[in-house]
Amino acid sequence: QEAAVAQQPKDSVKVAVNVRPLITAELQDGCTDCVTITPSEPQVQIGPHVFTFDHVYGNSGPPSSLIFEQCVHPLIDALFSGYNATVLAYGQTGSGKTYTMGTDYSGEGNCGGIIPQVMETIFRKVDASKDGSEFLIRVSFIEIFKEEVFDLLDSNHAAVRLDSVSVPKSSAPARVPIQIRETATGGITLAGVTEAEVKSKEEMASYLIHGSSSRATASTNMNRQSSRSHAIFTICVEQKRASGTSDKSSSSDYDILSSKFHLVDLAGSERAKRTGADGHRLKEGIHINKGLLALGNVISALGDEKKRKEGAFVPYRDSKLTRLLQDSLGGNSKTVMIACISPADINAEETINTLKYANRAR
Ligand code: ADP
Ligand code: MG
Repeated sequence: QEAAVAQQPKDSVKVAVNVRPLITAELQDGCTDCVTITPSEPQVQIGPHVFTFDHVYGNSGPPSSLIFEQCVHPLIDALFSGYNATVLAYGQTGSGKTYTMGTDYSGEGNCGGIIPQVMETIFRKVDASKDGSEFLIRVSFIEIFKEEVFDLLDSNHAAVRLDSVSVPKSSAPARVPIQIRETATGGITLAGVTEAEVKSKEEMASYLIHGSSSRATASTNMNRQSSRSHAIFTICVEQKRASGTSDKSSSSDYDILSSKFHLVDLAGSERAKRTGADGHRLKEGIHINKGLLALGNVISALGDEKKRKEGAFVPYRDSKLTRLLQDSLGGNSKTVMIACISPADINAEETINTLKYANRAR
């Protein structure tokens, strides 16, 4: 893995910032907008702090509807050329991660989210393919909660989740975590995870909707839908095409191109102390920070040219999140991190934290 990192092109990790508008609740609370986008620069200013990224959207800058075209579409092209790709939405709870990713897509409304547009584009590319390639497309949907990986498409588990709403926590059957495995060639797999074959964007969307509904969302005093888990929707594309040599009777006359696209709605980045929760909840907060901390370290190591040249160690093994994304961050893969921020003055401290984190990833 370290060798692959050394060859990584400099632009394989891109960082964008999305500033959402003030929402009704913030306006009602009398919040003011404290975030300024520098005109025609990918630069954002909050108080005395100035940060520059690859792209900055929203507010007075380019509209966030451009995120897909500018940041994500190129990754889909790479995916069809056999590269793994990852889009990560980072930010405090309420900053717009789920909205931006479109993880909560219900089949109607918010079609502007990234995932619905990815689904649309992937099947458009499959349909437009004229070179006789056969495509096998599969999706999986998992969440990482308290440093354990759970299958959101496991139908047994979905039933358990529905029951557990009315059943006291202690008597709800425990979900069975999934093990992360590494193949001989350095690929990462999840033992026994549901990989659903899909033949249309509607079918793909149905798995997204199904999985989102079983996502763990215990409440905190910040946001009832507070997401303390990382949700990862993964699209695997397997392309079988004639290699163009000799007769077609043996399997070696086909090239199989396999790649995967991780769409990650990260856990809220707010500090555990701000959840004002009991010891139990705090432990979850600490675990979440472990994944985000490790992710920051991995992406920062990947982005640091000097460190890369020295063959620096990339600490993928420090968390389940980075371990799972190991074959799709750095190396031959393409990554975009979208840092989501609220413009409200009340969130200034967390917003600065988010911008510092994203800046380090650059
Ligand atoms: P997170 O997933 O980071 O907790 P959400 O995506 O749930 O945040 O967004 C919080 C609130 O802000 C939601 O009510 C959402 O509809 C709203 N929101 C987020 N981004 C935008 C946007 N770009 N335009 C309008 N409303 C937004
Ligand atoms: Mg969310």
